[in-house]
Formats: sequence, C-alpha cells, structure tokens
Amino acid sequence: MSKLSNKQIEKYSRQIIIDSIGISGQKKIIDAKVLIIGCGGLGTSVAQYLSMAGIGVIGLVDDDTINLSNLNRQTLFIEEDIDKAKVDILFKKIKEINPEVSINKYKTKIKKNNIKKIFFDYQYILDCTDNFQTRFLINKFCHEMKKILVTAALQNFDLQAAIFKSWHGKNPCYECFFTNSADYPEESCDQMGILATVAGLGGTIQGQLLINDVLKKKVNFSEIILLSCNEFRMRKIKFKKNPKCKICKVN
Ligand SMILES: [Zn+2]
Repeated sequence: MSKLSNKQIEKYSRQIIIDSIGISGQKKIIDAKVLIIGCGGLGTSVAQYLSMAGIGVIGLVDDDTINLSNLNRQTLFIEEDIDKAKVDILFKKIKEINPEVSINKYKTKIKKNNIKKIFFDYQYILDCTDNFQTRFLINKFCHEMKKILVTAALQNFDLQAAIFKSWHGKNPCYECFFTNSADYPEESCDQMGILATVAGLGGTIQGQLLINDVLKKKVNFSEIILLSCNEFRMRKIKFKKNPKCKICKVN
C-alpha cells in the first residue's frame, strides 16, 4: 500500500511509535491477508486482536452455529447470538471493531474439495480447528501451496502453538512433529475442557506469531511452544524435518 491516511496514523499510533514497527511495519500489517479456519475459542480471539492490529484482509471459515456452551470462551459472541451462524456474527463484530478490515466469509467446513480455492488468496493460514484430521489436511495444503501455517491447540489449562513454513529450506511441517496416525483421539479438544482465559491466550499467541513474521522478526519455524497456564510454565520443543514425512520430505 502507498500511504497511510491520517485516520490510520492516529488509530494505529500506539503500534507505529514502537521503534521496530513504525509506519513501514504498520503498512506490512495492513497488507497481510490471513485466513482463520474455525471461529471457536481460538478463532474469535485471534480475529478480534488481528482486526484491532489492522490486518487488511481476514477470511473466516466455519459452518457452525453459536450455542450456549460456546459463550465461556468464544469472545465477541453473546446470548442473543445463539443459533446464528458463527461467521455471520464474527463478520459483524469485526466490522464494528475495525470497519477498514476487508472480511470474507466461508460458511463451510474445510474439505479436500474446497480447500485450494479457499486458500488461494491468503498468505497466512491460521488453524483454529479442534480436531486432528482437519489439522493434517490444512498442513498438507499449506505445504503444497506455500502458505505460512500458524497453529494452536487447547486442552484444560494447557496450550500449544507453532508457526510453520515447511516449503522453505529445511523447515519441518506440522506432520513432522505430530505424525499422522490412528492414535489421536477422535474427540475434539472442547470435549476435553477449555478454560476461557486459556482459549483467549491461545488465539493471541497465534496472532503474535503471525505478526512477528509479518514484521520480519526472527521467527523460529522449528519449535512448538507449550504453555501450562495453571503454573505458568513455558517450554519450547525444538524439532527437525522428518526425512520420512509423507507431506514435506524432499524427493
Ligand atoms: Zn513434514
């Protein structure tokens, strides 16, 4: 983009005054195109903060409607939104927060037959889903289509997050770490319990990983961040490309 308007300079002034962001960094944030898959605890949290930060284009993918048990963690949804489509309500709320964000809605599940078309326009794919099968599918197409993948998962007081650029150099992919097998539970993480604050943190950590890359900060594409929130213990697990990975191995 060429020039920030006076309104944009004022709106984003607290970011622009940060030395390592400035006007040029804010322009990079506004130029970013981000697809959020899953509008639950992670997706609503990251959508809220990325729209406030000024991300220019946000895509929202979800086929679900809002129910009462979502409201402990899915920020921006309220009781009168129950039974309405998550993408419709999130679209409306983001527009209220930041009318400058261009938002695309996809009222569908991500599947083999629609994933390429939906991914096409975005640089960043945020996996905010709650099951392993969809995560493996998203990882496969991020690798094939050279998209940067930011993933997170929640369970009880714990969260994990990572950013992948598996098509670049020797970087691993999601499946190098979480080998795709039948061993993963079929139940989604919300059936195992999620605390409101942990869901919010998971989304904002995904947002931070994304913004770090947008600003070209030093980003590690070979580690999983693990945060145990009940005692605030953070660990990073470093890992390498699996030479036998069926998604990203170099032939
Ligand atoms: Zn791999």
